[in-house]
Amino acid sequence: MNASITAEAVAALRQERIYVTQPYLPPLEEFLPYLQQIWDSKTLTNGGPFHQQLERALCEYLGVQHLALFANGTLALVTALQALRVSGEVITTPYSFVATAHSLLWNGIKPVFVDVEPHTLNLDPAKIEAAITPHTTAIMPVHCYGNPCDVEAIQKIADNYNLRVIYDAAHAFGVQTQTGSVLAHGDLSVLSFHATKVFNTFEGGAIICPDAKTKQRIDHLKNFGFVDEVTVVAPGINGKMSEINAAFGMLQLQHIDKALARRAEIDARYRALLADVPGIRCLPRGSQTVANHSYFPVLVESDFPLTRDELYQKFREHDIYARRYFHPLISDFPMYRGLPSANREHLPVAADASSKVLCLPIFPALDDGSVDRIVDLIKREVRAAVALVAA
Ligand SMILES: *Cc1c(COP(=O)(O)O)cnc(C)c1O
Repeated sequence: MNASITAEAVAALRQERIYVTQPYLPPLEEFLPYLQQIWDSKTLTNGGPFHQQLERALCEYLGVQHLALFANGTLALVTALQALRVSGEVITTPYSFVATAHSLLWNGIKPVFVDVEPHTLNLDPAKIEAAITPHTTAIMPVHCYGNPCDVEAIQKIADNYNLRVIYDAAHAFGVQTQTGSVLAHGDLSVLSFHATKVFNTFEGGAIICPDAKTKQRIDHLKNFGFVDEVTVVAPGINGKMSEINAAFGMLQLQHIDKALARRAEIDARYRALLADVPGIRCLPRGSQTVANHSYFPVLVESDFPLTRDELYQKFREHDIYARRYFHPLISDFPMYRGLPSANREHLPVAADASSKVLCLPIFPALDDGSVDRIVDLIKREVRAAVALVAA
């Protein structure tokens, strides 16, 4: 038999790989006119026309006052801390992407990890006060999976102790609560437009701030501290978003509502199909009035026939690449685990969630058939276990 035919047959049998996410990309031909404009203007960066357009358009779309674009979300986090001159200790969550705490270390700040709430997996306000010391200057919570933090309770504590609040809002693009955009809370909020996020500019990020003066300081900090050709007012970094990324953002904005609507459909389908599956618990929806369905986390409980890691492995055998967000906890990484606050005994809710969570694939191009295939794999395990008990 011809070897290449065999390989083709195998490839045909093999189902398409499904990753936890797939970046949203508009049709390429729609982007070409934007590239033509950049080629014509020869303005590639340094706050060019697309950069200015995207800042205005995002303020309008998100319903926020001021926004400064960045090359990525991590530089935006690092710069947000610089903008408010945060130092000493900052209270944060261990249940996040590692960049949250890394932004503190890059500023020479000591992270102090505090446990999360069981229903949102966001920083637990009831546990913050006990972690405050004379060195504490700020709180850095995360709107995990786009579910809003208890912003009122956090602000109350911040006001009582004169602390700054910087939200890592990397998951929270477009999320609204009863009072409007979730990004309007705290002193600053930081977005990521990384390829894997709900709204992507390939790489990108932004800081949302409430007043023009802070926006100006942030704009100086992201451009080496330059105010004009000969004046440097701060030891700034190069955090600027390029014109290509900003132009792509303008195009993405035309597609975002459609992309978010498809995510909502997938979320609803998962919830309906998984509702009666024993041992699989969907994270309840948070307090948002408008969600972005950026992730679809489930908790694999002890009454499910497989452990979380066994299910993760089973999915991989079937070409489904679900991800364990967030495992390990940030506090378990080598540069953090020596901190007293990294002790798992003080972080039982985060540790428990980290051992049970699995984020199922969710992205606009995921079709209903693929959602059903993913759910069927889960249900097959339950049926197999029931058959085993009956035999
Ligand atoms: C993605 C992400 C970041 C980092 O953003 P980049 O744009 O990739 O630098 C920070 N925090 C959280 C919670 C994230 O998910």
